[in-house]
This record gives sequence, structure tokens and C-alpha cells, in this order.
Amino acid sequence: MPSGAGVLYVVATPIGNLADWSARAVSVLRAAHTVYAEDTRHSQTLLNHHDIRTPLRSLHEHNEQQRVSELVELLQQGHDLALISDAGTPLISDPGFKLVRALRAQGCRVSPLPGPCALIAALSCAGLPTDRFSFEGFLPAKAGARRERLQALVADPRTLVFYEAPHRILETLQDCADILGAERDAVLARELTKTFETFLDGTLTELAARVAADDNQQRGEIVLMISGATVSDESADAGEAERVLQLLLPELALSRAVAIAEQLTGLPHKLLYKKALAMKNALPD
Ligand code: SAM
Repeated sequence: MPSGAGVLYVVATPIGNLADWSARAVSVLRAAHTVYAEDTRHSQTLLNHHDIRTPLRSLHEHNEQQRVSELVELLQQGHDLALISDAGTPLISDPGFKLVRALRAQGCRVSPLPGPCALIAALSCAGLPTDRFSFEGFLPAKAGARRERLQALVADPRTLVFYEAPHRILETLQDCADILGAERDAVLARELTKTFETFLDGTLTELAARVAADDNQQRGEIVLMISGATVSDESADAGEAERVLQLLLPELALSRAVAIAEQLTGLPHKLLYKKALAMKNALPD
């Protein structure tokens, strides 16, 4: 990159409350040559809020690779550029990863303008351990793939953080209770920074029951956080059960695999049987 080359600023925008625009975000977007945005119509409304007149160009998962040369050229000419997404921090369950990687590989300067991010906002108020956490993004929409992904997280000791669509939240909570353990503590954060912001906490079974009983909890934008596995809890047992069953199930009939797993682990028959059934169901048809 020539000296005097421009910078791509990766700019976080509000996740609901428009007062969360940072002063620096506004001035960087105003001064930029072009703002690249996931959905230009949606972003125009956001920018109008602060009377930002900078030209907008689309950048989404289908065209981000093609946009690379255009951005490199503008940066080489000394123009500063900005990348935003529909809400929150770009690249976090949003487009931009391929672009940033390509620009950095070509020696371009990419600089963050930090701000709102739903997972961080949710974690900061959930009261679950935050010293270690695993952001898992969106779980797969199909039940089999979702359950398989959850199986892989059973023994993870870190707090688990998911984004979830409102129409899938009930199913997801039920699967989490089933696979990670009914008694795990969890927190559902909904509509953060907006009028109907709510935090629900309880065990996974309690949360599933509360969400089932109240349609309002199946609306809006959601972050689901689940406490990690502990050595003494049911989920750790489930992890051990899974490891043993993973070896036995491909070789034996379900009831035989469960019986042998019972002898090997000393875990309760009921837990092993339930686990074995879930694992069988998670296998592709
Ligand atoms: N880039 C965004 C960020 O920094 O959080 C995330 C974009 S992702 C496409 C959208 C998902 O983020 C939503 O489906 C929801 O799970 C979560 N989300 C975004 N805004 C939220 C809010 N105000 N309250 C709760 N969850 C939110």
C-alpha cells in the first residue's frame, strides 16, 4: 500500500436504540468516501438519523469477494472507507470476513470502530460466568444438524452464547434441555436496548416452559446464554455417555449399546437410553 493510502473502518452501529450511535462512528461515516453496507435501504434510514450524506454501496455475502478490487483501488487512492452491517458489529454473524481477510492480505489498513454487539451486551447483564465463553452464532435450522451441534458442546465448560430466531427459540430450548441437561442455568436476552427488553433466567426446562406459555417471548431478537458444563453435573455425565455411545452405537443395536455403556460408565440406564435415542435421531436419514 502506498503511503497516504486510506483506511477501511469497520464501524459498529446500534442494535436497537439509536442513541447508541457513538460520536466517533458518526464523524468517521460522515468523512468516509463511501460506506459499504449489507442492505443499503435499511442503512440509509440509520444514516439519515444523523444526517450522514456519504454515498452507500452494497456489500453482502453474495458480492463481498467481487468488491475487493474496488475497495483496494479506492484505498490506494487515499480514500477512507467504512463498513457497517444492518445492526451491531460487522462480521459478527454478519458479512465482511472475506473482505477484511482479502484487504489485510493486500496490506490495506483495517481499523475497528467498536460499539454495540448483541452477544456482549447480553453477556454483560446475564450474570453467567464471562471469564470464558464460546460464541456459537446461529444453530442450524434443521433439527438433526442442530442436535448434532449441541452434542458436540455437551462437555464444554465455557458459557455458551447463541443467536436465535424467534420462531425457533422454543424448539432450540427444548433441544438444549434434552441434550445439554435439563437443569443447566440459562438466560434468554430479548430486544436488547429496545422498549421491550427482557432477561429471563432459569434452568433450561424452566425457560422452555415459560417461553411455551408466553407468545411474547417468541418475538423479537434473541440471545440465548447457557452456563457451561461442570464436572459434577448431569451434562458432564451426558458428555461421558456420549463418548462411550459414539463408539458403541455404530457397532451394536441400541439396547445392547446402552447395556454395555451402563456397565462401562456406571451411569443411570435412563440417561444412557435417552442419550442413545437422541444420538440415533441426530444421524442423517
Ligand atoms: N452483528 C450483530 C451483532 O453485533 O450483534 C448481529 C447480527 S445477526 C445477523 C442478528 C442477530 O443478533 C439476531 O437474530 C439476534 O439473535 C441478535 N441480536 C441483534 N440485535 C439484538 C437485540 N437488540 N437484542 C437481542 N438480540 C439481538
